[in-house]
Amino acid sequence: MIESPLLPHTQGYIDGEWCTGSGKTITVTNPANAEELARIDGMSERETLAAIHAAEGALAHRASRDQRRQWLLRIAEVLQANREEVGRILTLEHGKPWKEAQGEVDYAAGFFRYCGEHIDELAPRTLDGHPKNATWTVHYRPAGVVALSTPWNFPIGMIAKKLSSALAADCACIIKPSSKTPLTMIALFTLLQRELDLPRGKVNLVIGPAGAITDTLMEHPAVRVLSFTGSTEVGRELIGKAAPGIKRLTLELGGNAPFIVFDDADLDAATDHLIGNKFRGGGQTCVCANRVFVHRDVAETFANRVAERVRSLTVGDGMAEGTDIGPLIDENGVAKVRRHIDDAVAKGATKVVEQDVSHLPGTFSPPTVLLDVPTEAVCNVEETFGPLVPMVTFGDEEEVIAAANDTEFGLAAYLFTADHDRGQRVIERLHFAHATLNTGTGPTPEAPFGGMKQSGYGREGGIEGLFEFVEVQTVPVAD
Ligand code: NAP
Repeated sequence: MIESPLLPHTQGYIDGEWCTGSGKTITVTNPANAEELARIDGMSERETLAAIHAAEGALAHRASRDQRRQWLLRIAEVLQANREEVGRILTLEHGKPWKEAQGEVDYAAGFFRYCGEHIDELAPRTLDGHPKNATWTVHYRPAGVVALSTPWNFPIGMIAKKLSSALAADCACIIKPSSKTPLTMIALFTLLQRELDLPRGKVNLVIGPAGAITDTLMEHPAVRVLSFTGSTEVGRELIGKAAPGIKRLTLELGGNAPFIVFDDADLDAATDHLIGNKFRGGGQTCVCANRVFVHRDVAETFANRVAERVRSLTVGDGMAEGTDIGPLIDENGVAKVRRHIDDAVAKGATKVVEQDVSHLPGTFSPPTVLLDVPTEAVCNVEETFGPLVPMVTFGDEEEVIAAANDTEFGLAAYLFTADHDRGQRVIERLHFAHATLNTGTGPTPEAPFGGMKQSGYGREGGIEGLFEFVEVQTVPVAD
């Protein structure tokens, strides 16, 4: 069982109190070795209703912008001061290397800091002029009780994006983390309780399997916004459930990112960026390269360079010194990657490298590079969510634009070319909301991030993200 000063309780948190759930028990395990980390009494409808009630109560106490700024900056500071321990808990329940987990804590802190530093964007705005003989002021009011639901792949990063702007807007929040990684969220709540003076009911943590919890949130009229990060499949279901109550949704859904390498690209730089981009979180990120398109004249050279780097990656327990790639979250994740590799090879792809991970005890998947993957291979259609680099060759600009856009997803795309004009020209025609040139970087707190097409709608990060949890109220006052 896990021991941590940040986990004196392994429970949910409602109305300023740690609470036991009345639902199904959740077992949290370490994917590196299948060891049990915690058993949590899962919550259900009853606790969700209590959380909604507490949040409604908290809404009665409005906080000034200065107060909210202080909270946000304090959360950033507290997270940063506890990055090692929060990171350790994260690694134990998720599997990613400890150093990377600490980087995720820094990333999370960045969202709170950014919202704190930019909260004055939410100040009321008086219009120039006096249309219709009135003075017009635009107010950014809190949307109300908001539900924040997050996946397991960034146990602290994903909630930070939502909670920072929800608190900036002065909403009252109900957080539902993934049942696979609730411990990092509990650690965050321990810090919020110890280090901040948030009013009771301002932030509530409801832990338990989706279903009764999420249905209660979707059906209750007090919940005005659901901000969800997760699969497109669940996002689609939530759109239907939001209809009766006309609830606002922010949906951060799946991806199928193209990583395009033209023949004039700096291949060493493209290799570095691909390795960093693809293997973060063991390849279990929505923004990681899922399809690598390489110009046919450089395909073999590029594949060999990438393969050389992949051979030298250390796969193992995220807490072990020197580990580059941890385990996948569970057996289902491993089976999906296996299915994608076998399908591509059966359809004619060449295996350039597949590391042997059979000696490792947990849910590990072999870092693999495939070349000449046919476009109809399953790994080009579905998110692999694992350490597979499938390379598809192309001949010209038109062909690669069409192939890259041939997906229902529109989250992230990466382009490598020495010709900046071509870069901008191609990017303009790519239907992906995060589209980079000569870098494999993912999102940052300072910039808006979200999806096009079936990758969702709404934005997190940047000034745009600050406005996700406000209601705009326009007030003309007669002159
Ligand atoms: P998921 O299965 O959709 O689960 C996400 C969250 O929704 C979890 O809290 C889960 O709770 C809950 N959930 C599951 N089924 C639900 C239902 N029927 N109704 C309401 N809530 C439900 O996704 P995941 O496997 O955790 O995460 C991986 C996916 O997230 C990938 O597709 C990835 O691309 C996407 N993602 C997108 C972004 C982005 O910014 N666009 C970022 C990260 C991840 P339980 O755990 O209790 O089942």
